[in-house]
Amino acid sequence: MSYDVAVIGAGIVGAACASSLAESGLKVVVIDPNGVATGTTAAGMGHIVVMDDSEAQFALTHYSQQLWDRLAEEVPQTGEFERCGTIWVAADDEEMDEVKRKHAFYGDRGISTEILNERSLKEAEPNLREGLAGGLLVESDSVVYQLTASGYLLEKAKSKGCEARFGERVMSITDGSVQLSDGEDVSAKFVVNAAGVNAPSLSPGLEIVKRKGHLVITDRYPNFARHQLVELGYLKSAHGREAGSVAFNLQPRATGQLLLGSSRQFGVDDTDIDHSILNRMTSRAFEYMPSLQKVSAVRVWTGFRPATPDNLPYIGPSASQKNVFIAAGHEGLGITTALGTAALITDMILGRQTAISVEPYLPTRALNVN
Ligand SMILES: Cc1cc2nc3c(=O)[nH]c(=O)nc-3n(C[C@H](O)[C@H](O)[C@H](O)COP(=O)(O)OP(=O)(O)OC[C@H]3O[C@@H](n4cnc5c(N)ncnc54)[C@H](O)[C@@H]3O)c2cc1C
Repeated sequence: MSYDVAVIGAGIVGAACASSLAESGLKVVVIDPNGVATGTTAAGMGHIVVMDDSEAQFALTHYSQQLWDRLAEEVPQTGEFERCGTIWVAADDEEMDEVKRKHAFYGDRGISTEILNERSLKEAEPNLREGLAGGLLVESDSVVYQLTASGYLLEKAKSKGCEARFGERVMSITDGSVQLSDGEDVSAKFVVNAAGVNAPSLSPGLEIVKRKGHLVITDRYPNFARHQLVELGYLKSAHGREAGSVAFNLQPRATGQLLLGSSRQFGVDDTDIDHSILNRMTSRAFEYMPSLQKVSAVRVWTGFRPATPDNLPYIGPSASQKNVFIAAGHEGLGITTALGTAALITDMILGRQTAISVEPYLPTRALNVN
């Protein structure tokens, strides 16, 4: 059997690529040993957020969010897509200066945001503690249940003729084919490596490392929080190179549950719950929302973000492997940016003009190609 494209990995990125490629009329196969959304995607939070930490991150998150807004009209209700907005919470006056900078940044790029003062923040989120300086409300941000969304994208791909080969692992990529664990060769004109943290094992030279994270989910407390709440220090945690960091990040789920993050750890390979960092994470959350101490947690889990040195994903042709495209390294933004990634990959494979410049994401930046 010969395909136009073999997609390696059925996380949200692989599923989105399969959907977009199949939609464009290409004959696609998706290969994953474990099935859809079983890797990092299963461990994520599903916050679809436009970021302002670099122009490149803004371009990709904004483009992707527009694609999510379109997809939201067709995703089944179990996808729990909700436009709940984000509030970036400012603890003090210094952070309020950052709120003003963010407000101007978003405004200059056509995204309307609202500056909240101490009183309006408390009105918006009564469970936050007294005395916080304010925040920035970004109404256009949303959340999705990424497991359903990934499954939906895969089904959409299949309805356009895509085949899913689960239970098999790709062992290597050579010109025009991928080699499976059972010894079979699957030939494809193009290969998309969307294997998440495992992408470098198939495309050597990519700089992707595991960045462990913990999440807590609570019992049901409807209306406890109304927006995704993120402390302004979150970016410091996300972009810092510390071995371990935490930030307050709370998501209200459609079920009434609260999803609480977040932690980041480099250099840890095991999936165990690390009680010391978990304590730091929950203590940080209690500082912002003391009443969280009264809620019951029902489960804690961990996952590995695929992190790159410059916090941008690798999207585009491999520098060392012919006809191989990389779609990996999305760190803590892979749910947000999956749809934009898929659209860029599809446009590049088909030789079409891309909607945004791909330059900042090209994998060549990681490889010694000279
Ligand atoms: C705690 C936490 C919170 C997060 N919160 C958010 C959030 O709120 N918003 C957001 O946008 N992002 C968030 N993320 C990040 C997001 O979850 C990831 O960026 C995203 O899921 C990565 O998707 P992926 O498809 O690249 O990787 P994965 O989901 O890991 O998929 C890769 C797939 O490749 C398969 N695979 C690996 N090797 C092979 C092989 N050799 N052959 C075939 N298949 C292979 C694996 O089985 C896996 O299914 C969070 C992540 C964590 C850990």
